[in-house]
Amino acid sequence: TSPAYDDNNIFAKILKGEIPSYRVYEDEHTVAFMDVMPQSPGHTLVLPKSSSRNIFDADPAALQHAITVVQKVAIAVQEAFDADGVYIAQFNEPSAGQTVFHLHFHVIPRLEGVALKP
Ligand code: 5GP
Repeated sequence: TSPAYDDNNIFAKILKGEIPSYRVYEDEHTVAFMDVMPQSPGHTLVLPKSSSRNIFDADPAALQHAITVVQKVAIAVQEAFDADGVYIAQFNEPSAGQTVFHLHFHVIPRLEGVALKP
């Protein structure tokens, strides 16, 4: 089992409005905002509002709703950034590259022949 949810993570503060974010989508269960260090122009993060650390403790209904929002955001960024493709990623625990411990999906526009920023 993974560690418990810690309310002091940066995305919890963004959800509470304590830290600003550039929100591009919001509904009752989910929010999407621009990544502060985009790996490509249009890099967006999609978060369920419910408090889960990552996929291991996620509520299945929240996860199901979030993935429909990931689809909406993928279509929107594909159009807005004229992307050739869209990369979707989600990391669980530090060994897998997770650095912020509130469940989130990365939606990253890709252009043919253009590498991601590290
Ligand atoms: P992960 O935990 O999946 O590795 O990635 C966390 C992501 O959150 C990173 O892409 C990072 O750039 C982004 N991030 C970290 N702090 C902030 C912040 O304060 N605001 C926003 N908008 N993004 C952040």
